[in-house]
Amino acid sequence: HSGRARADALWGASESQKVGLMSFTLAIVGRPNVGKSTLFNRLVGKRLALVDDQPGVTRDLREGEARLGDLRFTVVDTAGLEDATDNSLEGRMRRLTERAVDMADICLFMIDARVGVTPIDQMFAEILRKKSAHVILAANKAEGNAADAGVLDAWGLGLGEPIRLSGEHGEGLNDLYSQLMPLADEFEERAKDDSPEIDVALDEDADEEDLSVPMPTRNKPLQVAVVGRPNAGKSTLINKILGEDRLLTGPEAGITRDAISLQIDWQDVPMRIFDTAGMRKKAKVQEKLEKLSVSDGLRAVKFAEVVVVLLDAAIPFEQQDLRIADLAEREGRAVVVAVNKWDIEDEKQEKLRNLKEAFDRLLPQLRGAPLITVSAKTGKGLDRLHAAIMRAYDVWNRRIPTAALNRWLTGMLEQHPPPAPQGKRIKLRYMTQAKTRPPGFVVMCSHPDKMPESYNRYLVNGLRQDFDMPGSPIRLTLRSQS
Ligand code: GDP
Ligand code: GDP
Repeated sequence: HSGRARADALWGASESQKVGLMSFTLAIVGRPNVGKSTLFNRLVGKRLALVDDQPGVTRDLREGEARLGDLRFTVVDTAGLEDATDNSLEGRMRRLTERAVDMADICLFMIDARVGVTPIDQMFAEILRKKSAHVILAANKAEGNAADAGVLDAWGLGLGEPIRLSGEHGEGLNDLYSQLMPLADEFEERAKDDSPEIDVALDEDADEEDLSVPMPTRNKPLQVAVVGRPNAGKSTLINKILGEDRLLTGPEAGITRDAISLQIDWQDVPMRIFDTAGMRKKAKVQEKLEKLSVSDGLRAVKFAEVVVVLLDAAIPFEQQDLRIADLAEREGRAVVVAVNKWDIEDEKQEKLRNLKEAFDRLLPQLRGAPLITVSAKTGKGLDRLHAAIMRAYDVWNRRIPTAALNRWLTGMLEQHPPPAPQGKRIKLRYMTQAKTRPPGFVVMCSHPDKMPESYNRYLVNGLRQDFDMPGSPIRLTLRSQS
C-alpha cells in the first residue's frame, strides 16, 4: 500500500454507514397477543431462524435487523411476557414497555383491531403519549371487514391515524413504510450532524485546554458484542453479568433467551449485549459451524459500539481470535481484549507479561487497547472489564478541539519533520478532527500521495499517546489543499 491508498482505506471503506448500519431503532409495543412477534418476524425475516432455545435465562427484549423496502433499522420486540401469568403482569409490562420506549427512536404501538381498544391498550397509550417522541399507531389483524370497528376505535386513543395492518398477511406494510420514511430521513440527518463528514475550517472557538470531553448523554443502551472462539467462555461471561445485574427477573421458567441480544443494566449502565455463543450452538446442530460463527461474529461486530474479544487464557491469540479482533478494528469499533479463565492460571505475572508481548506483536493495529484478565466463572475481574468498556467507549466518542490539535501538530513536526521526496518537503498545514466513533482526523498537506506510511503511523501513535486514547481505532486522512 502507498501511504495514500492506506490512508484512504482507513478513512473510507470500513465506515459503518457504508456497511449499512441500522439507522434507527423501532420498538414494537402493545399488550400480549396483538401480533407483535408476528410482525417482528416478518420485518426481520429468515435471519431470526437463529434462535437459541437454551432455557433458564430471562429474555425480555429481543431485537433484530429489520428491512422494509429500502429501509434498514433495528427492531425491538417486547415479547417474552406471554408466559408471565402472575398478577404483577401489568407492572412488569409497564416497566418493560418503558425500557423499550427509552431505547427506541420510534415506537410502533399495536392494538388488535378484532378486539378493539381495551383498558390495557389505554394504559400503553398513556405511557407513549408521555414518553415517546414518535409513535406510530397500528391496528393489527386488520385483514377483512371484521376489523373495521376496531380500526375506528383506535382513533380514540389520540395518537393520530391508525395504520390498518395485518402482520400475518403482510398487509399495510406500505403504509408503515410511508410513516417510517420521513422519520428515517430525520434520524439520518441527525446522525450526519453528529459526525460531520469533513470540516476543515479552523475552529475559532475551540481554544479550551480541557480535553476531558464528558461522556455523551445516551438515551440508548451501550451496544456491546462479546466475541471469541467457541469455548472461550462467552456464555459463561454473559450469564455471570446477567446474574449479577439482572433488571427484569421473573419467576417464569423455560423462557428462551434470544440469541441475538440481551438488554441489561450492568452497574447502572444500560447495555445491549450481542451474544454470538447462542447462535453458534445452534449452528453446530446445523453443521455449518465455521461459516456461521464467522458471519455471526461479523454481524455482532457491526451492531456493536464496543467489541469485547474474549480469549481463553490457555490458548490465547488463536487464528480465529486474531481475525475477529482485526475485523473489529477495521470496522472502527472500540475494542477491549479480555483474557478469560484466569482462575486456573498459575504463574500469573509471567503469563501476563507473555500475553502483553504477544498482543503487541500479533495485533499492532490495536495498540493501546486494554487487556483485562477475568474469570467468567468466579466473576473476578468483571469490575475492571466494565470500567475498560466504559473507557474505550469514551475514547471512541472523544472530540479534540482543533486548536489543541494544531498546537500538538506543530510540536510533532518540529520533533520529526516530514520527509522531502525529490528534495521537496511535504508540508503539513493544519489538522482537525472530522468525526468521532471512532475518532477520525484530517490533515491538510501538500503531496499527500507522497507521504510514507511510517509518517502516518508516527502521527497516529502520537495522537494515541499524547491525547490518551487507548482502545479505539484512530483514522487519519491526508488531504491536499485545493
Ligand atoms: P404478541 O404476543 O403480540 O407477540 O403476538 P403474536 O405475534 O404472538 O400473535 C398472537 C396471535 O395473533 C398469533 O396466533 C398470531 O398468529 C395472530 N396474529 C398475528 N398477526 C395477525 C394478523 O395480522 N391477523 C390475524 N388474524 N392474526 C394475527
Ligand atoms: P462459549 O462457547 O464461548 O460460550 O463458552 P462457554 O461459556 O460455553 O464455556 C466453555 C467452557 O469453559 C465451559 O466448560 C465453562 O464452564 C468453562 N469456563 C468458562 N469460563 C471459565 C472461567 O472463567 N474459568 C474456568 N475455569 N472455566 C471457564
